[in-house]
Amino acid sequence: MKAFMDKDFLLQTETAQKLFHEQAEHLPIIDYHCHLNPKEIAEDHRFSSITELWLGGDHYKWRAMRSNGVDEKYITGNASDWEKFQKWAETMPYCMRNPLYHWTHLELRTAFGINKLLNASTAREIFDECNEKLKQPDFSARGLMKRYNVEVVCTTDDPADTLEYHQAYTAEIVNCKSSNRKCTKVLPAWRPDKAMAVENPAAYKAYIEKLGETAGRNISTYDELIDVLQQRHDFFASQGCRLSDHGINEFYAEDFTETEIKQIFQKVLEGKQPTADEVNKFRSALLLEFARQDAKAGWTQQFHYGPMRNNNTRMFRQLGPDTGYDSIGTFNTAQSMSRFLDKLDSEGMLAKTILYCINPADNEMVATMLGNFQEGPTPGKIQFGSGWWFNDQLDGMERQMNALSVLGLLSRFVGMLTDSRSFLSYPRHEYFRRCLCNLIGQDVEDGKLPAEEMPFIEQMVRDISYYNAKRYFNFPND
Ligand SMILES: [Zn+2]
Repeated sequence: MKAFMDKDFLLQTETAQKLFHEQAEHLPIIDYHCHLNPKEIAEDHRFSSITELWLGGDHYKWRAMRSNGVDEKYITGNASDWEKFQKWAETMPYCMRNPLYHWTHLELRTAFGINKLLNASTAREIFDECNEKLKQPDFSARGLMKRYNVEVVCTTDDPADTLEYHQAYTAEIVNCKSSNRKCTKVLPAWRPDKAMAVENPAAYKAYIEKLGETAGRNISTYDELIDVLQQRHDFFASQGCRLSDHGINEFYAEDFTETEIKQIFQKVLEGKQPTADEVNKFRSALLLEFARQDAKAGWTQQFHYGPMRNNNTRMFRQLGPDTGYDSIGTFNTAQSMSRFLDKLDSEGMLAKTILYCINPADNEMVATMLGNFQEGPTPGKIQFGSGWWFNDQLDGMERQMNALSVLGLLSRFVGMLTDSRSFLSYPRHEYFRRCLCNLIGQDVEDGKLPAEEMPFIEQMVRDISYYNAKRYFNFPND
């Protein structure tokens, strides 16, 4: 019997172990999509307790606790930090075979050096030990990024965001560099979802006003909206932004005319509810504009599509969005995705693109879609994004990489990202690298890949772990 989570965790063959320990393990991390709070980075936030760090906003854990019958009071309610942690610790053994069991223990080991298993009887000592460590400067927001050797982080930011915290942090990086310390580069990423959310006219109008305020301009027509978005896009670029990200249910690729879109914009600003058809046309127009702006700037566009959000109305009223009531949707996306990409390609405006599906039933569809639009000189110009959200676990990662391997080029894959709100999620890169090395190592041992090509195979592991992302995104000052 193998030990639980020892140094060769997930590495089932000697070749896999060698690949991981000699090639992948020590490479820096490029976390090109996450939801960390830039304010916490700029202020080098100190966490008050392990409860804040682990349970403050992690809806994966909240879902598990609810599934285990824990009262909401101990999840998002007003129970004390200790009480919430205790309920989480009691839930932990019931999470066996859920990825949370691995994430939690990996985080305990790699961040806190705690090798004990979390359960009801170890809860108190682990709670106290983590909290004691969190008082040390190494465990601040930036301390944790340094511990995990994070080279670049891309946050997720609205066009109306001033990026003041990115600027404050960048100013400090100068100090960091002059004293020859390693420092994580924190760059903004462009997430303009709200600029196409016309389905709620009141919220949309308020958003357009805020966007105009940030840009120092009044937005009263559709053309002015596009101008202001371009102005903000240029500003983001000047702050080092090289990626956009779009959270969409489906790809919007309806036919429309310019006149129609201008009228829909006016209608919504007048507070009138657009029809479903008008909403889709407007989204289709904006999604194309976003894509053109990215192509002109040489950025990479990311599309996270397919979730079905806020399914529980009662809990949505109580807690709002992103609280653990989302699941995998079943949309018929292949045709609209193809139409969207084809339109841009026809115009010569198809930027580097990463497609993330939440429904693993779409894996093969997406993996084959890439090939329709690949072209030189960028290797892997169109990417199949790493296992996302519910697929961000061993089985999901393997399925994504297997689909990409057989239907595209795994060797050109830009690899893993955390997509996380937590500073403790970096071990997911380690987990991914172990999974990758295990797949490739097994193939070598089985004679499916040639051992005499080992130098190439080693480079491929280093590329997927780090170098492909570094080359593909072309971050400033690299
Ligand atoms: Zn995300």
